[in-house]
Amino acid sequence: MRITNARVIVCSPGRNFVTLKIETDEGLTGIGDATLNGRELAVAAYLEEHVVPCLIGRDAHQIEDIWQYLYKGAYWRRGPVTMSAIAAVDTALWDIKAKAANMPLYQLLGGKSRTGVMVYGHANGTDIEHTVDEVLRYAEQGYKAIRAQSGVPGLDKVYGIGKAGAKVYDPADSSLPGEHDWSTEKYLQFVPKLFERVREKLGFEHHLLHDVHHRLTPIEAARLGQSLEPFKLFWIEDPTPAENQEAFKLIRQHTTTPIAVGEIFNSIWDCKDLIQNQLIDYIRTTVTHAGGITHLRRIADLAALHQVRTGSHGATDLSPVCMGAALHFDLWVPNFGIQEYMKHTEETDAVFPHAYTFEQGMLYPGDVPGHGVDIDEKLAAKYPYDRKYLPVNRLQHDGTLWNW
Ligand SMILES: [Mg+2]
Repeated sequence: MRITNARVIVCSPGRNFVTLKIETDEGLTGIGDATLNGRELAVAAYLEEHVVPCLIGRDAHQIEDIWQYLYKGAYWRRGPVTMSAIAAVDTALWDIKAKAANMPLYQLLGGKSRTGVMVYGHANGTDIEHTVDEVLRYAEQGYKAIRAQSGVPGLDKVYGIGKAGAKVYDPADSSLPGEHDWSTEKYLQFVPKLFERVREKLGFEHHLLHDVHHRLTPIEAARLGQSLEPFKLFWIEDPTPAENQEAFKLIRQHTTTPIAVGEIFNSIWDCKDLIQNQLIDYIRTTVTHAGGITHLRRIADLAALHQVRTGSHGATDLSPVCMGAALHFDLWVPNFGIQEYMKHTEETDAVFPHAYTFEQGMLYPGDVPGHGVDIDEKLAAKYPYDRKYLPVNRLQHDGTLWNW
């Protein structure tokens, strides 16, 4: 089965998404997500200018060889742009192979390891009571695991808290980068109070998660982890930037609160030391940003050796194509932990019709051949690309640029 054509489709049904569609001489097609939030067109150009010409005429069944060809053949390995582009090709080819086999993708990976995929939803509030209400609302909808983020008193804009009364989470909210302010002191004072109140109202039946978004130094992260121990969190995410992975040793020495890292990682080389030294509990690499199903499987297998479980990034900066592929992966992967899940807008769901369904805190990928997500190209064309940036973050007291 030869690849006859590959096209990049960029659309913005509420957010920008980059989709690669691969066509074959047997009439089967497959799609992959190549969305790199805030830098979308870099991946689109990488695909169109450099990757697509190399795909035409290749055997669509040779997923591994094509992966190696694109990774090793470029000479310039790794990086988010390269790995998102390779991921899109890889995802589209797995989609095609599964359609050719007339099976849902999870069957090709080794079949189901569980009945469904536990997901966590995002409860965001402007203050403690609002956040508690949101957490309870998610619990009522059947979620077994809930991430809680709240506005911090004295801070103007906080990560995860949108403009419209925190109902919407929209980090890409400006045509130029927006500016948030930050005070570690105010945050560290506040967060234990938030989770004390949430546990008081919710009890201990549900998993609670919290994203620190790279804001702390290692010793501050250690203090946060310690202060949250009574509230038994499922994880704290990205407690400190992960370029210097030695830093996590310090956090580990001080706290038993589990740690999740990896949504901005793009290869097994980014994960290797954290996993092998058991400095984290959950690895958050995704299908789209970490080289597709083929590479994510390698990361998960390494993680399994060290009892690190998966917890893939799944915010709405990724298209439903990534979510569909991730759910097949999650249903199979033996060391599955949890999957992040944010509902896409109705416009996005209409552009990307999908087989996956939500019920009682679980997602199910469905049983149609392939990964079960399609793109309505006519509808997609009605939503042209709209440049957006992630915000930046500055320290409140003197304007120093901080981590976002
Ligand atoms: Mg995160």
